[in-house]
Amino acid sequence: AKAEGRNTHRIFDPAMDEAEAGRRDIGRELRRAIAEGGLDLHFQPQVRATTGAVLGFEALVRWTHPSRGSIPPSTFIPLAEETGTIVTLGEWVLRTACSEAARWANPLKIAVNLSPRQFQQEDLPDLILGILTETGLSPARLEIEVTETAIFADMSRALSLIRRLKALGISIAMDDFGTGYSSLATLQAFPFDKIKIDRSFVGQVGSSPQAAVIVRTVLGLGRNLGIGVVAEGVETADQRDFLIAEACDELQGYFFGRPQPIERFASLVHGAAAE
Ligand code: C2E
Ligand code: CA
Ligand code: CA
Ligand code: CA
Repeated sequence: AKAEGRNTHRIFDPAMDEAEAGRRDIGRELRRAIAEGGLDLHFQPQVRATTGAVLGFEALVRWTHPSRGSIPPSTFIPLAEETGTIVTLGEWVLRTACSEAARWANPLKIAVNLSPRQFQQEDLPDLILGILTETGLSPARLEIEVTETAIFADMSRALSLIRRLKALGISIAMDDFGTGYSSLATLQAFPFDKIKIDRSFVGQVGSSPQAAVIVRTVLGLGRNLGIGVVAEGVETADQRDFLIAEACDELQGYFFGRPQPIERFASLVHGAAAE
């Protein structure tokens, strides 16, 4: 198979072959799920910290396997990334998220995760522009979330990609901020509209003085650089209160809503606009 081209250092270990075969099965089934409607998107609200008003949603992909049940993205996204299936999957996510958001009565934002491999695609801006045109979604409503890993593979290419996406009117958020190798250098070199403080820090603001200092520092950094800051993984009222006191702009987390099918948010997307 063509996916095997990279396995030049194959070791003849039967257990490994089995794992490899299992992964190949999942890869094949994932491609089938994409083609046959086995994937869904869930949506998680992002709210203005001070008012709790919903500003938009992050789209998160879900896969319900016919026999294995629901498989978490932390399992199948890395696999899809490895096998290249992520390109097809990512295109499906983008198209589905944009066409969904285009139907809402309220012009809320929609944030879509882009994987490192998608970020290698030279024609990504054309692909996204095509999807925006096709769905009628205003580029101002689309936000792309990227991680440092996506950028590090090829910094100069990533920079030119981000510039082209921004030129289309799309905004760019740096995801999982603080967990990479060189978050500060990345901030200096890239014109991000937003940074998302990783939930590993946010979840500990009440229990770890260090985490509280880190979150406070990232908020100051964002403020001084003129970059919006979102705190992700907010689970408690105490965490919310801390973040409001520290003047965080936007919050996301189970406290405000778990990722769910968009039907659960019908009154938000179709009802009277809050803001
Ligand atoms: P992420 O982009 O950092 O997404 C946020 C993850 O945190 C989601 O997990 C979400 O359900 C979870 N989360 C949100 N609020 C809370 C909270 O208050 N507490 C806790 N403990 N968790 C919270 P999920 O949906 O399992 O996704 C995991 C990762 O899989 C994502 O992390 C992202 O890296 C990847 N992923 C998900 N959907 C997509 C997609 O459509 N495309 C790509 N490329 N990656 C995706
Ligand atoms: Ca994300
Ligand atoms: Ca994140
Ligand atoms: Ca993550």
